[in-house]
Amino acid sequence: MDSHHDDYIARATAHDGLVRAFAIRSTGVVEELATRHQTYPAVTAGLGRLASGALIMGVMLKQAEHLLTLRVRGGGPAGTLLVTANGAGEVRGLVSNPQPDVPQSRNGKLNVSGVVGRDGQLTVTKDMGMRHPYSSTVELVSGEVGEDLAYYLARSEQVPSAVGIGVFVREDGSVEAAGGYIVQLLPGLSEETVGEIESKIRALPHPTTMLRSGDSPEDILTRIFPAGYELLDRIPVRLHCPCSRERAERALMLLGREALEEMRLEGLERGHTAAVCQFCAAEYRFTTAEMDELIEQSRAA
Ligand code: ZN
Repeated sequence: MDSHHDDYIARATAHDGLVRAFAIRSTGVVEELATRHQTYPAVTAGLGRLASGALIMGVMLKQAEHLLTLRVRGGGPAGTLLVTANGAGEVRGLVSNPQPDVPQSRNGKLNVSGVVGRDGQLTVTKDMGMRHPYSSTVELVSGEVGEDLAYYLARSEQVPSAVGIGVFVREDGSVEAAGGYIVQLLPGLSEETVGEIESKIRALPHPTTMLRSGDSPEDILTRIFPAGYELLDRIPVRLHCPCSRERAERALMLLGREALEEMRLEGLERGHTAAVCQFCAAEYRFTTAEMDELIEQSRAA
């Protein structure tokens, strides 16, 4: 499963390398996430913000195959939000309840903290090919996602960071714009420069206002650094799930013989058993004959 939109991250530095900046357009990725999981608007926004932030934090990892997982457990009616991104600009995500039966907007804004909840934690896990993945948990600040990611970056990674990410959902539930920026201030910047950057960021329109008016990720960076910045690269981003029929088969085998026999019985009338990937809703079908074979193999194992 792949999305084919002009979604990418512009990665840049400014002020002699003392500022790291990332701007992203992720409209196609978020639209496809929403379609795959049939999310209600406020959940689309919450999951989309998390996926957009994860894509940026993913490309901060040193290598393409390194993995970053963001898990938000806010105690809200949407349940847990989980996204995984890698260093190559690929992301996938899921939410335990995509269609919570609560008002999706409040005061004309999508009710993201209302569906995510604000009483809980954000857990960040990084798998960088070491024996143990690194994991860190912070309390949620607002349940609006962007602020929560900024708090994590400042608190846990000790890098003061401005995070602005948004998702604009149309009346019909489709995604018109998604994306934003993360700007990180490294030690050594003068107070004057920090003040300048902060005032530029405070004066920025909402990320989706910029994207809807046609701003590219580079245009967003130009608004933040009018005196110029150095563009390092443009990284295409996409929704991608590494699931496959082979992986589904291995997952089935792990369930053990008894569970397989039960599934075979349940699927007997249809003539097949379906294994559905939680992350992307892809369905892998195994005929009764194939189930028999798996059961036979699990007996031998
Ligand atoms: Zn999948």
